[in-house]
Amino acid sequence: MNDVLPSEIAAWHRLEGIARELFAAYAYREIRVPIVEHTALFKRSIGEFTDIVQKEMFTFEDPGGDSLTLRPEATAGIVRAMISNGLLHNQRQRVWCSGPMFRHEKPQRGRFRQFYQIDVEAFGFAGPDIDAELIMLSARLLNRLGVERVELNLNSLGTPESRRAYREQLVNYFSAHKSRLDPDSLKRLEGNPLRILDSKNPDLQGLIAAAPVLTEYLDVPSRRHFDGLCKHLDAVGIRYVVNPRLVRGLDYYTHTVFEWVTSELGSQGAVCSGGRYDGLVAQLGGKSTPAVGWALGQERLVELLKVQKGQTPDAVPDVYLVIAGERAEAAGLMLAERLRDELPRMHIETNCGAGSFKSQLKRADNSGAQFALVLGDSETDKQVIGLKSLRVEAPQSEVPWSDIARILKSKLNQA
Ligand code: ATP
Ligand code: MG
Repeated sequence: MNDVLPSEIAAWHRLEGIARELFAAYAYREIRVPIVEHTALFKRSIGEFTDIVQKEMFTFEDPGGDSLTLRPEATAGIVRAMISNGLLHNQRQRVWCSGPMFRHEKPQRGRFRQFYQIDVEAFGFAGPDIDAELIMLSARLLNRLGVERVELNLNSLGTPESRRAYREQLVNYFSAHKSRLDPDSLKRLEGNPLRILDSKNPDLQGLIAAAPVLTEYLDVPSRRHFDGLCKHLDAVGIRYVVNPRLVRGLDYYTHTVFEWVTSELGSQGAVCSGGRYDGLVAQLGGKSTPAVGWALGQERLVELLKVQKGQTPDAVPDVYLVIAGERAEAAGLMLAERLRDELPRMHIETNCGAGSFKSQLKRADNSGAQFALVLGDSETDKQVIGLKSLRVEAPQSEVPWSDIARILKSKLNQA
């Protein structure tokens, strides 16, 4: 499980800030759902034959004897919340959510046991236009962040009927090559053969490459949906690669699936993935409702930005307030509060805990602040304060308390 340190947080805030702005711009509203749900919810939605349910869930019994699980993904909980709050009856909903997810995976670069996702979901829209809108939103987000060289992979899993026809072909194919399958894939052959295509085992890649392709089994409605999506993406110039091997790790997808991938993060290359899941709401006890969404891995995206752009500059204060002497200490915090009243956007760090002028000025310099305000006893007696530029060579000036906010405002260019 990963710690996000104060020195890294600026990059996270930037990602989250831009995402929030875009969600508002596309009229998606935030929903906050619990981190724990009944284990059965995830088993029923994600699917018994997925890695997540078979080996990655943090499951425990609560004091009342219920089996609960830390959410491995957000969609199931969001669907549960939409159903139990009656938000899907003849309504269309666009929502987003963010927070930690938990999967007991093998830890490695880009793969954590607690990781953050930003999720977006749309309910009640059956056509490919909303799939396109969601992909446009993800493209704009990556673009605004300045991410480069990510490739959009696109596929259609079709209707449940065409998926069923394809499933039969796959079972025939892999059954004929049973001796080459690994134990995981043998298990999947019984439960969910499509998932074999999702195997990361290098020994299986040849076999997978030669397997029948789902695209050839799509029925007319599936094809029409997929073509519709492609036309919308073409119209706005979003480039994509149709990847018939893309099946995604969860059972509930139908029609559109997609993934933004990079080759710059080692083998954990998926930064944002999603798809349509028209059957899930009914499967979880709601009225049949078409739905589509995506999830973005925040650690991976922050890491990719670091690889491509270097570290995001750390947040630094504008002003560091040096407070040395007994009478200065009595006045210092009061003065800082007054400045915060007058300049609410200015970041001011006070030197709590005393110290010599020299050591405090060193701290002021290390803080990265533009200016030090220097308050000693003699300044306090005269109701003035020293103003010292820390980044350019300039003499320290003495400013009356009544003037300091005005002067800082113009120096820091704050409205
Ligand atoms: P992968 O193929 O890498 O295992 P996934 O298909 O399991 O990904 P999803 O369940 O679709 O991933 O989750 C959406 C996004 O969350 C992924 O694209 C990825 O960026 C991120 N993600 C998934 N699992 C992890 C993890 N263990 N640690 C960090 N990020 C993750
Ligand atoms: Mg996974």
